[in-house]
Amino acid sequence: MTVDLHAAMGRALELAGAAQEWGDTPIGAVVLGPDGTVLAEAANEREKRGDPTAHAEVLALRAAAQVHGDGWRLTGATLVVTLEPCTMCAGASVLARVARVVYGADDPKGGAVGSLWDVVRDRRLNHRPEVTGGVRAEESATLLRAFFRAQRGL
Ligand SMILES: [Zn+2]
Repeated sequence: MTVDLHAAMGRALELAGAAQEWGDTPIGAVVLGPDGTVLAEAANEREKRGDPTAHAEVLALRAAAQVHGDGWRLTGATLVVTLEPCTMCAGASVLARVARVVYGADDPKGGAVGSLWDVVRDRRLNHRPEVTGGVRAEESATLLRAFFRAQRGL
């Protein structure tokens, strides 16, 4: 199985760009099935939905479970997200049993896949997804910086 992570992250970055158009922090996520095909994709919709849990990862994992074919288990799936997941999303990826978490930029202020916490590789868990960070990180970071700069009216 060869999964084109660069291309999958490219799609997640497009979704991130869409999120900022409706006022959400630009974060996008894609869930790939075991064969590398796209099962689901989502952007951050926290502001759009007025829902504190509507992070791109949670929305994409939920949608992926509807089509994956193994109930709530995303066996063999890969979560690709533009920013290092928070505690909720890192926890959701463990609960969903994804095989792998791939992210772009590190999030030193809230990241739970190695920066502030390491929720997915806690040895007390019986399921620990493989982690790949730093995929197209600079593009993700640039998008986030521009968004926050615009929000501050600079
Ligand atoms: Zn999150």
